[in-house]
Amino acid sequence: MKKFALFGNPVAHSKSPRMHNLAFQNLFVDAFYGRILLETSDLLIEKFNFFNLSGANVTVPFKENIIQVCHEAHEDARSIGAANTIIKQGDNMIAYNTDAPGFMLAIKEFGKINNAIIIGAGGTARAISYILNKNNIKVDILNRSDKKRNNFVNFDFYTPQNFKIKTYDLVINTTPAGLINNELPINKEILIDIIKNAKFAFDAVYDIETPFLNLAKFYSLKYKDGKDMLLYQGVLAFNIFTSNKFDFSKVEQIMRFALDLK
Ligand code: NDP
Repeated sequence: MKKFALFGNPVAHSKSPRMHNLAFQNLFVDAFYGRILLETSDLLIEKFNFFNLSGANVTVPFKENIIQVCHEAHEDARSIGAANTIIKQGDNMIAYNTDAPGFMLAIKEFGKINNAIIIGAGGTARAISYILNKNNIKVDILNRSDKKRNNFVNFDFYTPQNFKIKTYDLVINTTPAGLINNELPINKEILIDIIKNAKFAFDAVYDIETPFLNLAKFYSLKYKDGKDMLLYQGVLAFNIFTSNKFDFSKVEQIMRFALDLK
């Protein structure tokens, strides 16, 4: 039996084991997916080998560090500077980023998008800005602070202090604002100006309707939370784990069921 796992801290809440195990079971793959609490990223290889894993996913706060501990990284993961999927090939560990293409699949239903603004400047903003840019969509970054500006040298980077209103097709929240409190990700006046002129809104947060999405709804934007991004990063990771042996839509269907999605 092949073994896979999710590494992170915390990992208890994650839906990944449910998604992958249901897919293994329904597709008759002799494999199991568990979760492993990791204290520090330098223990990842040791634990990966100890449990004799064939592949893994990595979540907060290790997505950026695993690039350094893996032997190779796929072009997207290398350019983003973060990965969420590892596969063992021979003695080598290869890192991939499926969050970025997972996001692109999640926003497909919005249709044509020319430009977007990302609120937040963490790992998720790095993945999303990279993939939008790769798909020729102009991206600006707006963050509450200036401290991560250097991670976005190819983008126009704003804080509320120097932001001047522009028109964007898509507004994306990549901050955890609204997850544990009732906060908006950025000053309400600025956000209303952006949302009033936008067509679509996307929130990386899932499972709750955040104040950000409520505002988008109020201004009649077409909007989505982050559940489909979670779904598609999982389908893409599963395909890497199983060497693309299974039909994408079949895996998607099973994982949708695992996530209670329609
Ligand atoms: P990071 O910690 O790397 O970055 C968070 C960013 O948000 C930082 O730029 C930070 O600003 C800003 N921020 C944090 N708290 C607040 C707040 N209360 N108000 C305004 N800005 C804030 O996080 P990640 O990028 O890894 O994750 C962000 C969110 O995306 C999480 O909620 C996570 O659950 C979700 N996510 C969803 C996925 C999905 O599949 N749907 C996949 C990955 C992530 P500063 O720079 O000033 O510190």
